[in-house]
Amino acid sequence: MRPTRAGPVGYAEWTSRRVALPARPGAKLPPWDNGAMSNPATLQRYAHVILHVGVGLQSGQRLVVRAPIEAADLVREVVRAAYEHGSPYVHVLWSDDAVTLTRFESAPEGSFSEVPYGAAEAMEGMAARGDAVVSILGSDPELLAGVDAGRVAESRAANQKAMAPFYRYIMSDGVAWTIAAVPTHAWAKRVFPDAAEGDALARLWDAVTTAVRLDRDDPVAAWSEHVDGLERLASRLNDHRFDALHFTAPGTDLTVGLADGHLWKGGGSVAPSGTPFVANLPTEEVFTAPYAARVNGTVAASKPLAYNGRLIEGLRITFEEGVAVHAEADRGQEALDGLLATDDGARRLGEVALVSVDSPIHQSGVLFLETLFDENAAVHIALGRAYRFNVEGGPSMSDGEAAAAGLNDSLTHVDFMIGSEAMDVDGIKSDGTVTPIMRAGRFVLD
Ligand code: ZN
Ligand code: ZN
Repeated sequence: MRPTRAGPVGYAEWTSRRVALPARPGAKLPPWDNGAMSNPATLQRYAHVILHVGVGLQSGQRLVVRAPIEAADLVREVVRAAYEHGSPYVHVLWSDDAVTLTRFESAPEGSFSEVPYGAAEAMEGMAARGDAVVSILGSDPELLAGVDAGRVAESRAANQKAMAPFYRYIMSDGVAWTIAAVPTHAWAKRVFPDAAEGDALARLWDAVTTAVRLDRDDPVAAWSEHVDGLERLASRLNDHRFDALHFTAPGTDLTVGLADGHLWKGGGSVAPSGTPFVANLPTEEVFTAPYAARVNGTVAASKPLAYNGRLIEGLRITFEEGVAVHAEADRGQEALDGLLATDDGARRLGEVALVSVDSPIHQSGVLFLETLFDENAAVHIALGRAYRFNVEGGPSMSDGEAAAAGLNDSLTHVDFMIGSEAMDVDGIKSDGTVTPIMRAGRFVLD
């Protein structure tokens, strides 16, 4: 799962519960018009899915929207729909790729640990009072490819440190949050480099609307059914109580021990208020927490990773006793080294996630160059921090208890894709019994 880029805390107690999405919230939707792209009807449907599937916005609940200025059309629709649904206040925090780039190109050396005054504290405060948080993505995946990697790493680390209190809300379902993406010209050009600009944007909108189910007659009902399916799968995996997973594919022979009391999650989450939300739009994964010190073997990424505005391609990592002892990439080595140098936990795993190659994102054949989409095309693992809700009682554990259960801690959490039609996954129980979970990229688990 992809954590929001925000840099919030009152731990919600984990309860294992089924998530029922609202059957048909409020406003009537315009009919789906195929190929309509970013017309008002599509934006209205997207806003509806973000609010009623994504964060499960309640009447009387305040909303925070973080978005790039290129997403203004969608953001305005989200704001309108939120007020119409009874939100008393919607706060929009804008970002701008051009401003970000200018800073990395032109700000003085030694200034990259500066963070905005009070912004992280505000995010923590808004989460603590129960506001819903929507993050909309749409940046150029290679925005920062030409700037100094050290500056980017310094800035990212400073932001993560400042935002750590907010992140604790995110990592423990302590706030209703969701991430969605809006196609932008810069992003579309990276995904479809050979297409004319307008064409590239149209194709990306097409791919995004299919992936986010905006093209269904009733997107909210389609999401409800989909979330149910993922939760049933997670519950079957939980019943097996595997001790470890074994992944095999070309370049990959990796054994990942699972955290003590690990819980598989997939589909929806529940905020402390009891309202269901879906943290990533789209989501196709079931995922759990590794036991950070019990990861051994070699793994090869199956897709490029867009990280900090750079692409890391041909990534290969060898793990010994949980630690990435060797990591190399055909392209983007500097960005990879920066990621691994974040802190000790950045060299260990915090998530293991299973996704079938039948996922609509994989089937689209589109490489989105955005983890929110690409991680939902393939089996993936994440370097860095584990989600507390992936172990029984995790959200109320002390840091020491979480570490003892095997949960990794870090300022970062970065998913990368290892799955393909050539991947097999086995579940290993503590008595050594091996159970096939996936064969050739598809689920075979009973
Ligand atoms: Zn994931
Ligand atoms: Zn993740």
